[in-house]
Amino acid sequence: MDTILFLAHTEQDGQLPRAALEALGAARQLAVATKGQLVLGLFGAATAPAAAQLGGSGAVKVLALTSPDLAQARYASDAAAAEALAKAAAPSIVVAPATSRLARVLPGVAHRLGGKVDTHITALAAQDGSPVVTRWFYRQRMEATLKRTARPWVLLVDPGTQVAFQADGAAPALEAVALTLSDAQKRTRVKGLRAPKSDAQTIRPDAKVLFVAGAGWTKKQVDGKPHVEEAAKLILDFIGKAQASLGSSKSLADLSGEGNQVLSFLSHMNQIGQTGATPRHPKGLATCCHGEEPHVVGWRFINERRAVNLDPSCGWARGKADVLYVADAFAVMQKVNALLK
Ligand SMILES: Cc1cc2nc3c(=O)[nH]c(=O)nc-3n(C[C@H](O)[C@H](O)[C@H](O)COP(=O)(O)OP(=O)(O)OC[C@H]3O[C@@H](n4cnc5c(N)ncnc54)[C@H](O)[C@@H]3O)c2cc1C
Repeated sequence: MDTILFLAHTEQDGQLPRAALEALGAARQLAVATKGQLVLGLFGAATAPAAAQLGGSGAVKVLALTSPDLAQARYASDAAAAEALAKAAAPSIVVAPATSRLARVLPGVAHRLGGKVDTHITALAAQDGSPVVTRWFYRQRMEATLKRTARPWVLLVDPGTQVAFQADGAAPALEAVALTLSDAQKRTRVKGLRAPKSDAQTIRPDAKVLFVAGAGWTKKQVDGKPHVEEAAKLILDFIGKAQASLGSSKSLADLSGEGNQVLSFLSHMNQIGQTGATPRHPKGLATCCHGEEPHVVGWRFINERRAVNLDPSCGWARGKADVLYVADAFAVMQKVNALLK
């Protein structure tokens, strides 16, 4: 019988992040499909607050590794904690969320356990009682299903691909697991966090709508002049009112990087596409963006795509958007923002 270990770290407040609850949902389904047993393993500076999030998970036990030394991400201590939990649970399968913290350490931990790892998992199922996982390759152009005989098999589940587990029952008891860290394992210290302001303000992975701005916003308009300040105002107004996430085409992101008169709040972190991000949102609206293939590749997981472009022959018009509004995006967004008031 497979023992499926759900492995996650807690946040500063001792709770599990959303990505972890999604991975837990997937781990539970896998345990049912493979008729395996589910064990939960948590680590962090505080773990008790997470117990309430785990009620009714069906796990046979919940292991917790709690230490102030695990408050912040650090390869040596995070890997040691994950390894200790895995050794305590002796799993055949490990399911974990692909948070930056776990994505960094679990390949190394899989090696220490003598197992294998696969990343960017988007679905877990069973075939003849054995796990089968799905992931995408070549910038989400090809989908593959994978099986492995090697165990333990560590699976990092991409955030945004699963339904998050919702507690339904009493909080389980946590079984403490001990960890002794050497001074060398505690040597690296996080002294602070720095993030570009633009990301903090505009990238919202949980937003219902992704709003994507293209280079057209900075181009000369009907009066023969660019209107970049007005564009910036319209975009930020919409992002704020709709609480949307802000994406960019590569052309626009590159313009920002090259010091042109541009939208100062955009960075390469906003770029969607083959050489950018592949976000997951229920809806997406592209404005002043042509819809070229390398850009549209990043829209793979946007369920409903709409675009506003002056050009009725743009890339979106050729079957890449569900709805194309052939219109001036300045006028459209002005009206939309007024309606949102
Ligand atoms: C290897 C490779 C990787 C790449 N990776 C990426 C990637 O990851 N992401 C990405 O985005 N691109 C990528 N590209 C570049 C991509 O091919 C395009 O060049 C880029 O996406 C074009 O950006 P754009 O649509 O904003 O600009 P443009 O092509 O300049 O289009 C601007 C559009 O704005 C419209 N417009 C202008 N004014 C208005 C208005 N008032 N109202 C409505 N519409 C208006 C115009 O009609 C035009 O269609 C890649 C290219 C290569 C070769």
